[in-house]
Amino acid sequence: MFGPQSAKQSWKDLFFVYEKVRIGNEFSRVQRCEQFLGIFQSEGCKMVEMSCQEHDKLAAGSQFMTHTVGRVLDMLGLESTPINTKGYETLLDLVENTCRDSFDLYYGLFLYNKSALEMVERLDLAFDALRNELFGRLHHVVRKQLFDNGEKVKSVHDSSYQNGAASAFSSNALRYQDVTIPYEFKGKISGSVDDNSKLKVAIVGFGNFGQFLAKTLARQGRSVLAYSRTDYRDAAQKLGVSFFSDANDLCEEHPEVILLCTSILSTEKVLKSMPFQRLKRSTLFVDVLSVKEFPRNLFLQHLPPEFDILCTHPMFGPESGKNGWNELPFVFDKVRIGNDERRVARCNSFLDIFAREGCRMVEMTCAEHDWHAAGSQFITHTMGRVLEKLQLESTPINTKGYETLLKLVENTAGDSFELYYGLFMYTVNAMEQLERMDFAFESLKKQLFGRLHGVLRKELFGDSEKLEVLQEKSVRKNGAALSSSPESVKIS
Ligand code: NAP
Repeated sequence: MFGPQSAKQSWKDLFFVYEKVRIGNEFSRVQRCEQFLGIFQSEGCKMVEMSCQEHDKLAAGSQFMTHTVGRVLDMLGLESTPINTKGYETLLDLVENTCRDSFDLYYGLFLYNKSALEMVERLDLAFDALRNELFGRLHHVVRKQLFDNGEKVKSVHDSSYQNGAASAFSSNALRYQDVTIPYEFKGKISGSVDDNSKLKVAIVGFGNFGQFLAKTLARQGRSVLAYSRTDYRDAAQKLGVSFFSDANDLCEEHPEVILLCTSILSTEKVLKSMPFQRLKRSTLFVDVLSVKEFPRNLFLQHLPPEFDILCTHPMFGPESGKNGWNELPFVFDKVRIGNDERRVARCNSFLDIFAREGCRMVEMTCAEHDWHAAGSQFITHTMGRVLEKLQLESTPINTKGYETLLKLVENTAGDSFELYYGLFMYTVNAMEQLERMDFAFESLKKQLFGRLHGVLRKELFGDSEKLEVLQEKSVRKNGAALSSSPESVKIS
């Protein structure tokens, strides 16, 4: 269950499936067979004896699907980036695992697999269903904005889609110097930053990712507070985090850092509702959104100029980072950090949370991040979601390629649809990427069905067509002979 690519390092622990279909009883024949199997055993293969029928049943779903997805991804021409997520690396692995196999091999899997056609259909349906979910929601939002007059005024203010998208795509983002915000800091102009080794961090948005980060912060001995619209008191207590269901109460605790872990789509609304006046004059705002220019512009637009701004993206999540963060990329952009020594120290102390866990710290601008992520993030999540709909199951003889498919599903399955929809809305070329995926899949189907059609035509009409062609040729030949003869003129 391996090939030149998946086993280029070694065959150790890879499956070797066999069935002794007919081995004579004589000692020499038995020994010959054992010697042959010994070749694979001595390389460390996992030897699995099963009937060919059983093999085909198990491999039917996994093999053909792996090659199909690998081929579609190959057509997209994916490229490695300096900030690959684990999910995206599984896509690249998959392409590498399958792209060197010939089309004949793939076509063979298609022809000799009873359920191949059904699988192509299921993949098609899953992709369609996902697109419908995305477009359905888009349609709903746009309709609401266009026709729902009662709601219109409200949606202009509330909707994070409209305002957010506008500011994310606008290259003329408002600079913080241009913005005046009603601002009260009576009695809070201390400017002092508490002991940085402890660093009081307030997580705003205590959902999936907020809690995931809180675990590590608490383990490191930081003082962690949390606020969310949902009541997470119990979850917070288990993590040793103080939970607040009112943003005023949270801010009056004077955290040094406000860490925004809200969904992309709700960030604007949440940020605007924060009672900044209750915070210390010197507070560091950090976000972890999976898109970067959008929160950067929001922060610059809405935060008082005295606040520091650090935009970050931990390129991992509860699944890919469950066994530690070592070597996982952490992207950050010090958008606005005051020169004051204590402010610089506070920012570094926050970054140290991730550096200490072994993250690969990558400093790049929000624009650069979005440029790299545009070609990788949305595709990864889309593929993961399409495959999730197929409910793939592990088999006792998984190939490495199939394992990467399963890993991809595992990596994205825990993420909310809200997160995926946020990526769709704020990835500038998301529509184009959906189209490219669609086109790649359609081309692959055309290749398969075109060849199938050719074979069938040949079988059905091969002989008669040959006969027709011969007849046609001879008619043409005779015709030509006739037309060139003087009699033909007479006949015509
Ligand atoms: P998510 O669905 O993107 O966000 C869930 C969070 O947003 C919850 O805290 C939720 O609060 C809050 N929220 C949603 N709608 C809200 C609204 N209308 N008003 C107020 N709060 C609202 O899932 P997530 O995985 O937790 O991600 C959080 C952020 O981290 C996102 O920006 C995401 O891009 C980023 N991120 C996630 C990952 C990951 O692997 N999951 C990795 C890197 C970065 P309640 O729970 O209180 O409703």
